[in-house]
Amino acid sequence: MLKPKKNLGQNFLIDQNIINKIIKIGDLNKNKTVLEIGPGTGNLTQKIIEMRPKKFLAIEKDKNLTEFLKKKFANNENLKIINDDILDLIQKGFSEKNITVYGNLPYNISTQILVKFILLSKWPPWFDILIFMFQKEVADRIVAKPKTKEFGRLSVLCNWRLEIKKHFDISKNCFSPRPKINSTVLSFKPKRNIDFNIKNPKYLEIVTRTLFSNRRKMINKSFTKLFKKNSSVAKDLNLNLKQRPEELDNEIFYKIAMKYEKLFD
Ligand code: SAH
Repeated sequence: MLKPKKNLGQNFLIDQNIINKIIKIGDLNKNKTVLEIGPGTGNLTQKIIEMRPKKFLAIEKDKNLTEFLKKKFANNENLKIINDDILDLIQKGFSEKNITVYGNLPYNISTQILVKFILLSKWPPWFDILIFMFQKEVADRIVAKPKTKEFGRLSVLCNWRLEIKKHFDISKNCFSPRPKINSTVLSFKPKRNIDFNIKNPKYLEIVTRTLFSNRRKMINKSFTKLFKKNSSVAKDLNLNLKQRPEELDNEIFYKIAMKYEKLFD
């Protein structure tokens, strides 16, 4: 058997009950197209095949695992295993639409992957639902509400475009090799109508990065970095600059990003 690679976040899920529970979230049928990120040794892949989706793509970065999977699933004509880096494919998208995406994500790049899905230039996007597993701590940050210590960039970005649902935690004992921490499964559905129309998502990225750069401090300093001497912006938004970033609601970040974007018109 192949030796798991740490740098590719290879912890394979071996608990069949949990695998079944994850698959169920997607409500698969023969009309669906599925994308799996990081199929690994094919534990989830096998169960997805059994649901007989119309089309099934799996993207695996590890060459050896890709070869292994191609042999293991040689008889499945609907499944296409591609040796590539998911980070390079998200923006491009796929020829299909309304894709159901599964991923027991490699931990070291899980937030990077999620953020790429959020910041797609085309919206509504090419996917219908993302069913992702994260380290529990990361999932806690994603679902965090304002005024908690987990609240930050990640929850602000996610809530802008995605409907987030927490499903269940998974013990580290369900994996081989066993990671140091537990995991959590979340799913995300794209919001069709976004309440805050930020034309270029990169401005929301900059705004959240700047305002959260100093969690413990009042936002006034970082706010002037964004708007120079323009103090009327805070007034327009009815924003008290003596607050810490974690005290602000999601909505105000989106409003700030819309104002910030206007500077570049
Ligand atoms: N889904 C499998 C494996 C999860 S481990 C299971 O649950 O058992 C994460 C997998 O993602 C590994 O197979 C790893 O090789 C793969 N991977 C890591 N980085 C990747 C990337 N950038 N693009 C695609 N796959 C990646």
